[in-house]
Amino acid sequence: MGVGLPTIKSRKLVIVNHIPISKTQKFWEGLKEGKIYTTKCKKCGTIFFPPAADCSKCYSSDMEWIELSNEAEIEAFTHVLVRPAAFQHHEPYTVAIGRLKEGVKVLAWLTGAKLSEIKVGMKVKLVAKVTPEGEPTYEFQPI
Ligand SMILES: [Zn+2]
Repeated sequence: MGVGLPTIKSRKLVIVNHIPISKTQKFWEGLKEGKIYTTKCKKCGTIFFPPAADCSKCYSSDMEWIELSNEAEIEAFTHVLVRPAAFQHHEPYTVAIGRLKEGVKVLAWLTGAKLSEIKVGMKVKLVAKVTPEGEPTYEFQPI
């Protein structure tokens, strides 16, 4: 059942909600436009995803916004067949960690792929979208 993601099952939406909205407005606005922005430390060059207001490596607060490419490769994934209570109305879903061309790792749902086709090393694209409920989000899709 995938590799390396034993505790991830219900976390994806929680992670998104934990991004402080005040300093990441551009990120949310970008998702609505189909673009994925994140922050890069001007001092040491570290790229963060999701965007961070401060650099956890060199403690600088001098961050700049960059637009990420959407090309990614799956590094790990898990099929969530037994859903936590809040997700019972969802079909079984896949949560994956993909590494973008820029080197940042992104945790997101992987949609639109047959379970049997999903494997480590699979090329995917990171897609910004707005849910039917109007929430900006992002997910991986097969290329
Ligand atoms: Zn830094």
